[in-house]
Amino acid sequence: VDSEIAALRSAIQAADSIIVASHINPDGDAVGSSLALLMGIESLGKKATVILNDPVPMNLRFLPGWERIRGPEAVPLGAGLGIIADVGVMSRLGRARPSVEAAAHLCVIDHHEPDGAPPGDIRIIDTGASATCLILYRMLPTIGVEISPAIAQCLLTGIATDTGSFRFRNTDPATLDAASHLVALGGDLAQINEEVWEKKPLSAVKLLRFALDNLELYASGRVAVSRLTQSNYQEASASDEDSEGIVNEISRINTAQIAAMFREPKPGRVRVSVRSRGELDIAAVCRQFGGGGHVNAAGCTFESSIDDAIRTLVPALEACLASS
Ligand code: AMP
Ligand code: MN
Ligand code: MN
Repeated sequence: VDSEIAALRSAIQAADSIIVASHINPDGDAVGSSLALLMGIESLGKKATVILNDPVPMNLRFLPGWERIRGPEAVPLGAGLGIIADVGVMSRLGRARPSVEAAAHLCVIDHHEPDGAPPGDIRIIDTGASATCLILYRMLPTIGVEISPAIAQCLLTGIATDTGSFRFRNTDPATLDAASHLVALGGDLAQINEEVWEKKPLSAVKLLRFALDNLELYASGRVAVSRLTQSNYQEASASDEDSEGIVNEISRINTAQIAAMFREPKPGRVRVSVRSRGELDIAAVCRQFGGGGHVNAAGCTFESSIDDAIRTLVPALEACLASS
């Protein structure tokens, strides 16, 4: 890993243009790590642009520099260096993929379980890290970046969001040490908690009502499933962004070892978010259907009806339970 970090440092110095990208439907770790890289690269005297497939979610629009994030069309193809953060497969880049593929060199900084050989010439991958922002917290100083208060706030946001505000199993001593140091460097945890968790648009609260109404239990309550249909989204005046976090509400049910939220915000594509307790590896289940993620938090996408998606995935989730 040390040699990979040295290679990244040289690649940044050598590149005349740098793009930074992350995954579709970006979360706090995706946006936080992208912005920390942007500000870090700029502090080294180089220019960079962050490109994302989607607009920055409303609840992350407090992050320093969020308004500088562009759509992929904003930059010409052929950057000297592309860096992708919080994603290890090209298919999760969405419309940013052509720009990343056209870069002369590619660096991957990620903490997801790899699905096959990761792309890129430089790979900084640590599946033991609770967040990509934790990898950056360790790495940025070694490439000469001083962690400013703005960078600290971006890194702390990625760590706080990927650990569910330090509640999930991935909240290890290294994570808490980093968080403590990032607060000392100017990170504002109270602001993160308020903006990310404690504020929701009315449409998101209305959508939660439908998710609770549509709850189904399988395997004697050990698998909790819910769905959000297109008409639910319409009635709540909601968009896909409003479904963020709803799977966690479903997963609270104390008998549920696995929770899965199926949603179809737009016709023809069903996005699924899955959560599990303990050792149940639902990333492995999601990989069977072209998705992925982490042991306890993963997802996949189906191009079918919600009913068919549930009929396909639930037996695989039950099999995962049975094999444990
Ligand atoms: P989410 O349920 O959207 O919060 O995602 C949980 C985790 O699963 C995140 O680490 C995502 O990056 C990953 N994930 C979600 N959907 C997919 C997918 N279709 N393919 C691969 N990974 C996914
Ligand atoms: Mn992410
Ligand atoms: Mn992450």
